[in-house]
Order: sequence, then structure tokens, then C-alpha cells
Amino acid sequence: MSEIFPELRIPSPRCRTCQRVPEDSGYLWVAAENHMTPDEYVIQMDATYVSRTHTYLCDEDYLEAEVPQDHWAIKALRSLDAHEGGE
Ligand SMILES: [Zn+2]
Repeated sequence: MSEIFPELRIPSPRCRTCQRVPEDSGYLWVAAENHMTPDEYVIQMDATYVSRTHTYLCDEDYLEAEVPQDHWAIKALRSLDAHEGGE
């Protein structure tokens, strides 16, 4: 009765570059060490996570992104907005 939306849960965050979810981009071990799921770890612990777009940068893409992070994040947000039609 109290479970109005039993299936309601936060979808996995996606890497802004490769679109992988944390589980597929090497967060399993570090998340397990912190007693979290990969999703929880990225949302709570990863500095690249952006709550507004629910995206993050996986380690691979973080290391490859040599442009300043702020500039890069803004670019990524703009392309996301264009993709999702605003909001
Ligand atoms: Zn990535």
C-alpha cells in the first residue's frame, strides 16, 4: 500500500563522454571498498558528478580531457541540453 512507485529508483548516471554507467567504467571495486553501489559512489563521492544533468566523467575520459574542467563541463552541458530539448 505504501509503495506507490515500487520501481521508482534513480537511473544510473552516465559518463558525459562515453555514456557508460559507473558499473561499466571501473567503479565496481572502489564502490565496494566504500560499501556503496557504483552509482551511489559516483553520485556521492566523484567530483566530476553533476547533479543537474545526472552525468559524470569516468576515469578514462577524465584523464583524456586536457582542457580545463569548467570549460569542458559547460560544453558538455550545452550539448546535453540540445540533446534533451532543454529542461
Ligand atoms: Zn567515459
